[in-house]
Formats: sequence, structure tokens, C-alpha cells
Amino acid sequence: MHNYSVSEKYALLEKINGSFDQLALLDLLGAEIEKLGAFDGYLINMLHVDGMHLESLKVRFTAAFRELEQTYQGYKVSLAGLQPNVSVRAFKTQQTIRADIDNGTPEEKALMELWKLQEIAALPLTGWENDQPTNPVGTVLLLKQEGHIDPLALEKVDELIALFHKPLVNARQLAFLQNYHDRFEAAAAEQARFLQFIVDMNNITSPDRVYDMFSNELFHQLQFDVVGFFLQEGEKLVAKKIAVNDPTLEEKRKKWQRYLAKHDYQLTTTDGGVSHTFLRNTPLVFPDVQKIMNLPMSDKDRKTMEIFDNIYTLLILPIRFQQQPIGVITFFSIGRQLPVTDSDMLLLNNLSAFFGTAITNGRNMQVTQQQHQEIERLNEMLQEKVKELAEQASTDKLTGLSNFRSFEQELGRRINESERRSDKEGLSIAVIDIDHFKKFNDNYGHQAGNIVLAGVAKEIAKLARKMDLACRYGGEEFVVILARCDIDGARIFAERLRIAIEKTSFETDAGILSVTVSIGCATHLQSDNNQSLFNRADQALYRAKNNGRNRVEVV
Ligand code: GH3
Ligand code: MG
Ligand code: MG
Repeated sequence: MHNYSVSEKYALLEKINGSFDQLALLDLLGAEIEKLGAFDGYLINMLHVDGMHLESLKVRFTAAFRELEQTYQGYKVSLAGLQPNVSVRAFKTQQTIRADIDNGTPEEKALMELWKLQEIAALPLTGWENDQPTNPVGTVLLLKQEGHIDPLALEKVDELIALFHKPLVNARQLAFLQNYHDRFEAAAAEQARFLQFIVDMNNITSPDRVYDMFSNELFHQLQFDVVGFFLQEGEKLVAKKIAVNDPTLEEKRKKWQRYLAKHDYQLTTTDGGVSHTFLRNTPLVFPDVQKIMNLPMSDKDRKTMEIFDNIYTLLILPIRFQQQPIGVITFFSIGRQLPVTDSDMLLLNNLSAFFGTAITNGRNMQVTQQQHQEIERLNEMLQEKVKELAEQASTDKLTGLSNFRSFEQELGRRINESERRSDKEGLSIAVIDIDHFKKFNDNYGHQAGNIVLAGVAKEIAKLARKMDLACRYGGEEFVVILARCDIDGARIFAERLRIAIEKTSFETDAGILSVTVSIGCATHLQSDNNQSLFNRADQALYRAKNNGRNRVEVV
């Protein structure tokens, strides 16, 4: 350690300490070796992270071979070879090995001949502890084109190695930690992504979206080219979704889908891999389908092989819900074999169990939605029915007029309204009763009587205004609520109606017949209620009857 002066070493250490990067340190070391001017080239080989190879990370050849530098950059030699080369021996023995063209092993001589060299020296990149070399991280191979290597220069390289060894060990450790850190971060990011996938899946309510998300996830995790989802429906396994990872496979995907649409897998083990996997509830793995093409195969499986033409690795997994198979997922690789590791199988098994839950949830959700829609539909029908019934309840069947119940309601409502408005426009009623109708029925029959009742109602409805309300009050009695109508208006209305009915002929089985009516009118007075108003109109009707019928009386 006397060849470099203290100040030279200081300057060098300062540079070395400024760098934690292995390649930068090797650049520095290389530059220092070149500075010595004693060699025509060198290779710095570092122990690869796998611990089993030396890798040339810094290469400087003689001028004639400079073109080869690129080639040897990153060149790896196994530490385990039967005929270790000079660098490997220096590394293993932790000793400097020198050889020249006259006395070297055949391998060394061949190397020197190849690179047109006279002498080479391989130095282990070791540190020193208690005068013993320790912890080798690589080697330096020095090349001499002509003459012999200067022993002083060799000593200087030794001194350089002593200076660089520890920083190189540190830089390697740092790189290792950095690599570890990067891998850890990548794993954490992947885990976060996967968690998000699971959250998304759980939020999906349509089975179609479940297939899409799931096939994307599978293509993300593994290098398969085609994935197919089959679900049990009754006695069949129905292809629900076929997805491909590569757009150029789209035509074949469609062809397979068309074929499967017409050929469901049946629940018998002889129908093919899909059925077999489902019934056995165990995965099937074929690492290389091409090798078993000559073996017997079901028609459906053979057709699948034909459509995709060069399926290599084939995997069929049961989809399970609560341990029981509910379907099957198939995966193929096309054109090349795909290694499937145990951890891949574990992942696939977990994913397919998860898929089973997601698809079952999706289906349940769909059923719930369908049920919900059905309930809505029934509700609407029910509302229609209620409306119809309400109409029926307020309408008289024979005449189509409002019935007694709605007359009572409507009269009450209108009395309230007119009192609230204290309107002076008037509210009147006219009570109508067919004359001698009992006799009419006796003479012409009940049937003819009904025709007359309907006809009279029609005349009443015709003459009543929109805002009036015509009702069948009882058997052959009618009442009309006359809105905005005083007693004179009521009399005019009643008279017009009486004449109209008198003039009307009714066609019945018993011949063309006519009837007359008597009408009593009353108008609403303050503090009148339904009963008192109706009673007055009824008294007027009574008078009309007494005074000879076919008349109008008012009070
Ligand atoms: P008047 O009113 O002129 O005093 O004599 P009337 O014969 O009409 O007397 P009443 O009011 O006592 O008789 C009503 C008759 O109307 C009894 C019944 O035969 C007949 N009638 C009641 N409801 C119906 C019905 O729905 N259809 C038919 N055809 N007849 C009915
Ligand atoms: Mg009567
Ligand atoms: Mg009568």
C-alpha cells in the first residue's frame, strides 16, 4: 500500500464516497486502471445477484477488439462450470492468477490467442481482514497485448481494489434493498388494485358486468388467450360468456360462441371436459393439448380444438358457490404452452370461488329486480281494478247514471261548497218519478219496464248540463242536482224534461210504448241539509202526483 500517495488516496476516496451506485463506482475503478497506462484492456466482473454467475459489467478491450465491448457487456459465466475460466478461479481461490501465452492452461491460452494477448492477470475483488482476503464481490481481469505485466502496476490495482471493495459491497447492498423496496411497492400496489377489484365486483348487480370484470382480471393475472364461462341451467351447462385477450381471435371467439349456442354441454361425463369438470367438481389441467390430439375426445371438445386450431395449454375449473359447482371456467393458451404453477392454480381456485359468489349475487339481484318489476306491474293492475270497482260502486248498472250513494255524497259536497261561497247562484234538485209504473210492468212485463227505465235515464242525461249530476235514486225514481240554478231555472228544466219524456217512444218486445213522469223541484235554502232539501222536493213531487201526474211542481 505504498504506491498511491496519501493525498492521491484522499482525492480518490472523496470521489468514491460520493457514489452509492455500483456502475458509477465501476466507471471510477475502470478510469483509475486506465490511468495507470500499464494495460491494454480489462474486464470487471461482478457477482450476479443470483450468486451463481460472474457478470461482466465493465469491459475495455484493446483497440483492435473495441467492437466486441458491447458483446461482452453483461456477459455471464457460471461459477459452477466444470472447467472454470481464469476469472472464476481467481474469484473462487481469492488469489491473483497470472498467465502468459507460453505458460497458461489451454483455456487461458485459447483466450489469449482469441484476443491476441501476451499476458493476462485475474485479481479477486476482495477486502482484507487479518491479512486474509474476504467477501469477494467480483474480479478484475487485466489484459496485456505485448510484453509482460508490470508488477508495480499490478500492486497498484491491488491497492485500488482494497479501496473500492467496501464501497462496492455497500452499493450492492443498497441496490439490493432498492430492488427489494421496488418489488415490495409493486406488490403493495397490486394488492391494492386487487382489493379494489373485489370491492367493485361486490358492488356489481348485473351478471354481464361480472363476466366482463372477471375476464379482464383473469387476463391481467395470467397469460391465457381465451376464457369461457359456463353455468348450469337445468340439465345443461350453458356458455354465458366467451372472452379473448387478443383482437385477432375475435372471429374464432364468435365461431365458438355460435357453436356453443346450439350445442350446450350436457350433464354427463362423456360430453367433454366442461361436463367432466363440473360433475367431478375438480379442475382439469392439460399442459399441452397438441400432444393428446390423437387420443379419443368428445365431439364438442374436438370441435373446440378445430375452431381454435392450435390450443396448447388448457385448464378447466369448476365455479363453486358454497363448495358446490354451479358452472365451469375454461382457459386456453393459443400457439404456445403456458406454464401453470401451483400458485397460479391456487389463485385461479380462489378467484373462481369468488366468481361463484359474485355471479350468484348478481343473479339473485337480477331475480329481485324482476320480482320487483312484477310487483310493480301487479300494483298497477290492482290500482286499475280499484278504480274500476270504485266506478262500479258509484254507478247504476241498468241506466249508467250515478247511484243513490254518490248522489248523497255529491249533494252533501255541493251544499257545503255553496254555503262556503255563500253563493247566490242557487243549487236546486229535481226529483222525477215515472207515473203508474207498477201498472206498466204489469201490462208489458219487467223486461219492457227495464228498457223504459234506461230510456228515461238517457233523456235525463241528455238534458242535464255537464255541471249537473243525474242519478237513479231508487227503482223508477231519479234525481238531478242542478248546479247554479234557482227555482225558476229548475222549473224550466223539469218542464222541458217532462215534455221530452212524454214525446219519447220506447221500442220494447211488447211494442212501441211511452210513459210520463211527475217531477218535484226544490232549491237550497240556508241551513238546508241533504234530507231537508230532498224532503221539500219530494213533497212537490207528491203534489204533482196528486194534481194529476205528468206535471211539474216546485216549492
Ligand atoms: P205512481 O208512481 O204513479 O204513483 O205509481 P207507480 O206504479 O209508479 O207506483 P210505485 O212507485 O209504488 O211503483 C213503482 C214500481 O216500479 C214498482 C215496480 O214494479 C216498478 N219498478 C221499480 N224498480 C223497477 C225496475 O228496476 N225495473 C222494472 N221493470 N220495474 C221497476
Ligand atoms: Mg215510485
Ligand atoms: Mg211511480
